[in-house]
Amino acid sequence: MKSGEFLVIGAGRFGQALATTLYDLGHSVVVVDRNGALVEDIMDRVTHALIADATEEETLRELGVEAFDRVIVAIGTDFEANVLATVNAKACGAKYVISKATSAVMATVLSRVGADEVIRPEHDMGIRLANHLTTPSIVDAFNLGDDYSVVEVEAGEKLNGPLSESRLPNRFGVQVIAVNRDGDLTISPRADFEVQRGDRIVVIGSVEAVNELRDYLSKDSSEE
Ligand code: ATP
Repeated sequence: MKSGEFLVIGAGRFGQALATTLYDLGHSVVVVDRNGALVEDIMDRVTHALIADATEEETLRELGVEAFDRVIVAIGTDFEANVLATVNAKACGAKYVISKATSAVMATVLSRVGADEVIRPEHDMGIRLANHLTTPSIVDAFNLGDDYSVVEVEAGEKLNGPLSESRLPNRFGVQVIAVNRDGDLTISPRADFEVQRGDRIVVIGSVEAVNELRDYLSKDSSEE
């Protein structure tokens, strides 16, 4: 992504990690928190940090929320503050607001009041860890809508060799989108692409197809 402008509201553990990582990746990041000590702590690690109450419309207007590519409301515990910051950011013209929810109810409310995207970090991390624990070779997984999944699989014994030999589309109905070798991406690799141990293969397929692949990967070779 080209260099973007981000506004992070709330410098708790999640907001801090988000803001400093975006900054380290070369983006412009403004952080707002009502807690002065937290603002002071993060000040040198982002573009700009200021003490303010983000539930106030006036504050958001002064910040120029409409100019940011993304506004992330990273307030968890104070639900009311999160809803107000989300609603007011949208009312002030924010292009795209991502709000953090700590429960399913909170996620529904935030979507209804206008959040463009709602994330549930604890919930999502729980799903990822469950995927990884049950199938260690699955490094990451997420759903696209209700019907499709994308998974990143670390190639071990089973997927070693040319893609044409693992025949993933024929056997499981999944398509290989990319192979990541130490950060070097090969997009839409050809059938003769030689997969090496440790490569990360990104595949897409229906939830059922991906589950079949998952079953296959979680079995010991000796069980087949
Ligand atoms: P963590 O990311 O640490 O898990 P959390 O989900 O517990 O955080 P909170 O601690 O509720 O979330 O909020 C994160 C930050 O948001 C806190 O530093 C808090 O000071 C800040 N915050 C809460 N309400 C407001 C507000 N109205 N304006 C600005 N910042 C706020």
